[in-house]
This record gives sequence, C-alpha cells and structure tokens, in this order.
Amino acid sequence: ISVDSAAGQAVKAADRAHVFHSWSAQALIDPLAVAGAEGSYFWDYEGNRFLDFSSQLVNTNIGHQHPKVVAAIQEQAGKLCTFAPAFAVDVRSEAARLIAERTPGDLDKIFFTNGGAEANENAIRMARLHTGRQKVMSTYRSYHGATANAIALTGDPRRWANETGVSGIVHFWGPYAYRSQFHAENEAQECERALAHLEATIAFEGPQTVAAIILETVVGTAGILIPPAGYLAGVREICDRFGIVLILDEVMAGFGRTGAWFAADHWEVVPDLLTFAKGVNSGYVPLGGVAISGAIAETFAERPFPGGLTYSGHPLACASAVATINAMAEEGIVEHARHLGETVIGPGLRELADRHPSIGEVRGLGVFWALELVKDRATREPLTPYNAAGPAAAPMAELAAACKRRGLWPFVNMNRLHVVPPCNSSGAEVKEGLAILDEVLALADAHTV
Ligand code: PLP
Repeated sequence: ISVDSAAGQAVKAADRAHVFHSWSAQALIDPLAVAGAEGSYFWDYEGNRFLDFSSQLVNTNIGHQHPKVVAAIQEQAGKLCTFAPAFAVDVRSEAARLIAERTPGDLDKIFFTNGGAEANENAIRMARLHTGRQKVMSTYRSYHGATANAIALTGDPRRWANETGVSGIVHFWGPYAYRSQFHAENEAQECERALAHLEATIAFEGPQTVAAIILETVVGTAGILIPPAGYLAGVREICDRFGIVLILDEVMAGFGRTGAWFAADHWEVVPDLLTFAKGVNSGYVPLGGVAISGAIAETFAERPFPGGLTYSGHPLACASAVATINAMAEEGIVEHARHLGETVIGPGLRELADRHPSIGEVRGLGVFWALELVKDRATREPLTPYNAAGPAAAPMAELAAACKRRGLWPFVNMNRLHVVPPCNSSGAEVKEGLAILDEVLALADAHTV
C-alpha cells in the first residue's frame, strides 16, 4: 500500500465541500478517504489497511474487485453500456435466467430495479394490484429501504423522521426469543405466540383489507433475527388462508449471506414475491429486483404492469450479476459461507462469549452473525439503550473506534456488533478479525455489572 497523504486530503476536501451524505448531520461526519480495496480488505491514503467485517453495507458478498466480475463489466462496457428496458438484451435475459433458476418455487419472472428499496416498492405495487387490497403488514425491527413506502414499512427508528402519513401500513411484532414480546420461555413458545399475535392483528385489521405481509427472511440490520422453526411456514399458511401475498425481503439475506442462495431455502418456504439486491452482484453496479410467482405474473399477462424504471435491467448491472452468480457457483462460495459459519464464525463467537460477560447472545448463520452486547447477562439490559445517541451511545462508539485502530472495520448497530464479512473470506481472515474483537470486547466488559 502506498502512502499519499496529499491525495487523500484532496479527496476529503472535495467530499466535505460537495458530497451530501446519507443518514448524517453533514457537519458532524468525518468520512475516511478510501484509496483502494481487494478481496476482504480496503485501505486509505495513509497506509492503513482494514479487514472489512461489514462487507460495506453487507453487500460485497464476493469481496472487492473480484477479477471475473471486473472483467465482465469491462467487456460489457465495450459491447453495450446501456439499453432501454423494453428491448430483449442478452445479459439481461441471462441474469434473469440465472436468478430465476435459484429462487424458490415458481418465482420464475424477474423485474429488475436499481436497488432494494425500489424492489420493495414494486413488490408492494404488484401485491396491491394482484389482490385489489391496500394494507401491507411488516414487523417492528426491520429495514426495507428509504423510499416512501419502503421506509414506512421499516420497523426501526429510520422510519420516524420519514412518516408522511402514508396510510395502509400496519406493524406487528415478529419473533425474537432473546427479547420476547410474548413472555415466551423458549423458541417453540415464541413461534406459537408470534403467529397467534399476527393472526389476531390480521383479524382486527380485517383480513379482506390486507394485500401483503413483508418479512425479512432473516432480519438483518435490525438484529440478525433468525426465525424459529415453524414460523415462516406458519406465516405462509396464514397468508394462504386469507389470500394475502407473502413477500420475503432477501435484499440482505440473499445470495449466499446465510450459507444458502436464499435464506428461504433453510426453511423451505416459498413466498409469492421475493426481493433482492446487494449480493446479486455484490453491488459492483447498482441492481435489485423482484422475483415473481406464476400467479402474480399472470395478473399482468393481459393487463399492463403500471411501473417501470429507465435503468430496469441495466446491461452493465446485469453483466456483473451474471459474472457474480457464475463465480459464486464455480468457486463454491455459498457452501463456503455455510462452512465458515459452522466451523469458524459460530464456534469463534461462542468462545468469545465464554470470555466476555458483555456478550448477551451470539446468533447467526453463514456469514450473518450478531453479538448482542449487554450490561448485565441476568437482566439482559442492553449495553446502550434502544436508539441511543450522543453520550448514551458512547460504549458502542468506543468499541467501533477501537476496532478501526486495530485494522478491523466493524458493523455496529445500536447495542450489537454484527460479524458480516464477505462470503468468500478465508478462515484465516475471519480468525484475524475475531482476535481483534477479543481484544476490544474488554472495553464493553468494563461496562458490565
Ligand atoms: N431491505 C433490506 C433487508 C435491506 O437491508 C436494505 C438495505 O440495507 C434494503 C431493503 C434497501 O436496499 P437499498 O439500500 O438498495 O435500497
């Protein structure tokens, strides 16, 4: 890695002068100037290298600069950079085929978008038109994107500043055994009671008014919450009984993250619509989409679908998806992610929990894990309060800063440290990151009772 402080300062100065950043108070941020990235690492202009335990926004599932994907984008750029969605384009057709072959059940038609929020917007549009109903139900502790409907569906604090009174969205509690809303004492009780709660909510909303239920198959940013056995099958059954469309949001969980092509595969549940983005091409070019069941596709066989995007199925994005999916298949990356979870990350994090009283719970699968940090294991009081800011959030901010000083880029949300490296990280890379976590967790332990 070369050092070029002057270049880094110029990049930073132009950023501070002209780039308006997501989710931030513009005057209070200090973005790191990135000089380059490869595989599981990136580096700055000062010669600091970071092991990326965040996969950026949990999207670089095949790591940075995968040579096969870079080459595919370059080749496509030389052939055909862009073309309108109304045409049949070779890489678009091929990307749709490769995705449809992997999605569960009869989700065989693909509507392409630029990212996850637009995928959810269009899934909701399809569900409303297919059912002729308006309401959509989603869980607290969820994230579905930052466009109007997607943020209204979101069940974390990012929704609050965005509520415009968009009607027709109803929130309910999903299962989360560690902090049960249902006073459940085990996973089976949590499952049964969460399903009863959902069914009661539907009854009081009026089943004939509910178009769709949208769930993250495994909840991502809001906690890495793995559904208990039977929950998704139970939701599927409720949807079937009331004619409600089941949308699974696999924007974060899909394409290898959980050690399966789709998280739904773990529970053999088939939704009516499945949304994806992120891992479909590791974000090398913006891409998302909706995989559509036969019945919903049929609704729009003779009747126009009233939605579209200039860049739906963009050739550069589709070429990168084709190369990504092929590379993942050729290199066994999905199986590798499962293996990493079972043999390195899971056991490694449980070992950390043996040594660090601040770890309240370890949960995850594949390369999708969370350490839930607490002040007190007995009461489960979180290390920082829900949605803490400023001094109240300091213990987690200190932890993140300590990781960065040691060359580890963490993913921190509220009182949780997520361990979400690329799916093709090596065992040695993961162990390097876990060793750093072992050192910094002493800071969290100091806040325990
Ligand atoms: N759904 C889930 C589960 C996500 O994690 C995200 C992004 O983090 C989105 C939707 C929104 O995707 P995008 O930011 O590409 O619009």
